[in-house]
Amino acid sequence: MIIDFHTHTFPDAIASAAINRLQAASHTHPFTDGTVGQLRASMQKAGIDASLVLPVATNPRQVEKVNDASIRMHEQAADTGVFSFGCMHPDFENPKAELARIARAGIKGIKLHPVYQGVDFDDPRFLRVLACCGELGLMVLIHAGLDVGFPNLVHASPAMILHALRAVGPVTLILAHMGGWRCWQEAAETLAGQGLYIDTSFSLGSMVPNGDGYYQTEESLQLLWEDAFVAQIRAFGADHTLFGTDCPWGDQAACLRQFLALPLTKEEQRAILGGNACKLLGLKSE
Ligand SMILES: [Zn+2]
Repeated sequence: MIIDFHTHTFPDAIASAAINRLQAASHTHPFTDGTVGQLRASMQKAGIDASLVLPVATNPRQVEKVNDASIRMHEQAADTGVFSFGCMHPDFENPKAELARIARAGIKGIKLHPVYQGVDFDDPRFLRVLACCGELGLMVLIHAGLDVGFPNLVHASPAMILHALRAVGPVTLILAHMGGWRCWQEAAETLAGQGLYIDTSFSLGSMVPNGDGYYQTEESLQLLWEDAFVAQIRAFGADHTLFGTDCPWGDQAACLRQFLALPLTKEEQRAILGGNACKLLGLKSE
């Protein structure tokens, strides 16, 4: 069972506008048109059995509508292989009722994006959301570290994540992008060994530019080299690492090939590619 724990789709009617906006901001190449249809085609081509879609609410007014769509998507997952988390915004008025609604619908977690949401991760508004998720048994996947579309904007630093973790009761946290995008070493030093999960998305090798000439050097496209990537996995633990591609911002087939070429044991590979995700999502691993 191979599960991609970090993907994005948009409703068909707005997918092309959303992808255009995001690729203009990140100057990177999208590998699908952002629709569920192309995600499923990509999964089939790559040999990926299931994908988890991570929606982000960029304002509090979107939350319920985005969650309605996530619930519909999640209900069809047995047929489509496409699961969904829900969303929450730190300024949403009554997060507990909305989070309880998605938990009742069978959704297993939410995605938070402090950079897109413009709020520090250790702000009381996020802590309130984390506490509710802990009580309801919802996981929280956080965009950790910098964001390619917002250079220099820090709202989810390792120190903020540690601070938040200490301020709230038990909650399962998953740090996207190997613990903290472009602050990998600091993430490992600050957060490894605390029972946090990481996902592997958008962190190995090089980014693929969209051809607008923004990236002038190979160095500006470089992410983690293989040895640093493997060291990061071992710092957080292969039993706490989840395979993710950030599709459409990563090509699922290419990411899987790159991952399989890493010097990991078979056991580590199996855990990261699907075993850990099955446990978190309550799926049977075959
Ligand atoms: Zn992402």
